[in-house]
Amino acid sequence: MYVSDCISVNERGHLTIGSYDTVELVKQFGSPLYAYDENEIRKNLREFKKSIDDEYGGNGLVVYASKAFCCKEMARIVADEKCGFDVVSGGELYTALSVGFPAEDIVFHGNNKTEDELRMAVENNVGRIIVDNLTELHNLNSIAAEKGVTVGIMLRIKPGIDAHTHSFVKTGQIDSKFGFALETGEALDSIKEALGMSNVKLRGLHCHIGSQIFDLDPFELAAQVMLDLFKQVKDETGIELEELNLGGGFGIKYLKSDRPRAYSDYMRKVSTAVNSYAADLGLKTPFILIEPGRSIVGAAGLTLYTVGCVKDIPDVRTYISVDGGMGDNPRYALYQSTYEVVCANKASEKRDWTVTVAGKCCESGDLIQEWTRLQPVEPGDILAVLSTGAYNYSMASNYNRIPRLPVVFVKNGKAREVIKRETYEQLVECDV
Ligand SMILES: *Cc1c(COP(=O)(O)O)cnc(C)c1O
Repeated sequence: MYVSDCISVNERGHLTIGSYDTVELVKQFGSPLYAYDENEIRKNLREFKKSIDDEYGGNGLVVYASKAFCCKEMARIVADEKCGFDVVSGGELYTALSVGFPAEDIVFHGNNKTEDELRMAVENNVGRIIVDNLTELHNLNSIAAEKGVTVGIMLRIKPGIDAHTHSFVKTGQIDSKFGFALETGEALDSIKEALGMSNVKLRGLHCHIGSQIFDLDPFELAAQVMLDLFKQVKDETGIELEELNLGGGFGIKYLKSDRPRAYSDYMRKVSTAVNSYAADLGLKTPFILIEPGRSIVGAAGLTLYTVGCVKDIPDVRTYISVDGGMGDNPRYALYQSTYEVVCANKASEKRDWTVTVAGKCCESGDLIQEWTRLQPVEPGDILAVLSTGAYNYSMASNYNRIPRLPVVFVKNGKAREVIKRETYEQLVECDV
């Protein structure tokens, strides 16, 4: 009925997440707030893991891309599900380490990691640092040498495949700030350089071709392009790289018209391609890493707001203003992202009113959704914006000094805060 399987309507006509009444969540934890169904998050992690077990003999690791949604409890859950954790900053790394996340299964990304971040990663024995450029490679090798250790690395390659939601193009794609270019020979030269270094161990190669991708072909093509490079490395150096990291980017449902593919379909297609292509090239089948972010948490979360004013501008449009906005969800302002909106306390009524949902920030562009269908709402009603589990909390700001929202996890009929609502005292804590 809704874009997410964990969303439904109860006998009171209220919207539920993980069978928990969302109107009750607002009563208990205040408004606005983010809520997630923990079982849905675990189910998604398990589906990816199972797909590697079933389709690829378990010879791989699911690494959750924590930039989609990062907090301590999320790191605990990912560790509990025996998946890896992908971080892109010292802050995300700190979050994972603070709950004792196994460092060997942490993957550290970023196109401009600072020297402090690299040191932090080396000192804490992060299993794989994804090296983006030569400056970083040299810095990392000297930091590791200084400490008398060898660090596991992968190199990020631009495979020349640029995938968008519904299409992909095979271009030069040299114009990206991430990684080493393939077609200029930069990638191969850098691989050779890394192989000659004494304090880094090159575990394999990484690529990430985009986000919110529905089509499976670009992933298959990326795997082939990367294996061609494995073969070239083997021919020229005699060394066979062991690991292939294919990144993330699996699409989710934001609107009913979105048609994501089952994760098992993805793994089946990629496994078949990798197995047969590696055999053709005379290579061993590599250990595979995949890095889903959005597809783990996106549809498992929603945002709940309270309606303030309803402003009808005759012959123009109706603005429904809520007690949050671009501070907790900047995605509409940034990319006109689509979302399904429901009145949580009138969920069984028809959505036959076309409205624009606006936030409370001093900014005309502070909109959550334009020209969306909604039940006839009034001030005091609760609005739910669905599938906000990815890139909402993690992209939140304190614009207008609005405190960040709490995050509530629902599981088996119980709700608990995993991130508390920010207070005004905390807002001024760093001010001097
Ligand atoms: C953003 C990112 C991901 C996760 O992307 P999703 O679209 O959220 O699945 C994985 N790997 C890398 C390197 C990324 O930059």
